[in-house]
Amino acid sequence: MTLYQNVHELVGRTPLVALHAFPLPAGVQVYAKCEYFNPGGSVKDRLGEKLIRQAMASGKLKPGGTLIEPTAGNTGIGLALAAVGKGIHVIFCVPEKFSMEKQILMRALGAQVVNTPTDQGMAGAVAKARQLEREIKGGYCPNQFANPDNPNAYFETLGPEIWEDLNGKVDVLVAGAGTGGTFTGTAEYLKKKNPNVKTVVVEPVGSILNGGKPASHRTEGIGMEFIPSFVKTKYFDAIYTISDQDAFRRLKEAAEKEGLLIGSSSGSALHAALLESEKSAPGTNIVVIFPDSSERYLSEHIYD
Ligand code: PMP
Repeated sequence: MTLYQNVHELVGRTPLVALHAFPLPAGVQVYAKCEYFNPGGSVKDRLGEKLIRQAMASGKLKPGGTLIEPTAGNTGIGLALAAVGKGIHVIFCVPEKFSMEKQILMRALGAQVVNTPTDQGMAGAVAKARQLEREIKGGYCPNQFANPDNPNAYFETLGPEIWEDLNGKVDVLVAGAGTGGTFTGTAEYLKKKNPNVKTVVVEPVGSILNGGKPASHRTEGIGMEFIPSFVKTKYFDAIYTISDQDAFRRLKEAAEKEGLLIGSSSGSALHAALLESEKSAPGTNIVVIFPDSSERYLSEHIYD
């Protein structure tokens, strides 16, 4: 399809590209699913479309109503984009530390941004969103941290796309986890098609999946302070905990060697995919998710 009726139709069907410039064991291939080709620039456009569609279909959100959501940024952009043209007010609760570019884009798409203190983490943003939902008449908070439509969005779109792109020849999935929605939904779909697919989750140092304590990290968009109930830890066939240093080194190399302008969560996932490739037998196809682009973080001097 080359003619689209509106921006909403542009979400999904992102390119899968083979990596060639990184040394890989013979017969092992790494493919990157470039989610920054979505119209709002990230993997979270899929979630935005799903959450708005569900909220309106169920009557929880009506034209003239207000959507309120705690978000580190990309989900906000995806939701604001999905709300365009639907007569909905949008308010996001965002911890101050998150990238300025994302907050500018959320506002450009018509959303109001309420900052919460960095030291309260995402928990502070969640609490603020709950409070606003109670206070605002017609307010609705889809809560990406507790909503099963979060993984469902990926089960329905990203998983099938990867499967079809490779005609079912997928052996390993490598994906970072922030809420865990992308990982859980995509892993669930691929496991349903073939239970032998190895599904590998990636987190930054400072996240809890490998037993670590929550701590601050530079890698943006991934890392958990708690595990949302929809996350299926049985799909954690391996957990890679990647340092900021490795994530940012790979982000730079991806630009220089492959021409791929990826953000730090992609750099982290790339490092994990390369570590995983070293353990893989000839013939293994590894798919790594690149959630967003470096252009979203230029003010943070990521290429310096
Ligand atoms: N990378 C980036 C840049 C993100 O914004 C997000 C969403 N927080 C993720 C990865 C992780 O996605 P998920 O919440 O589905 O685990």
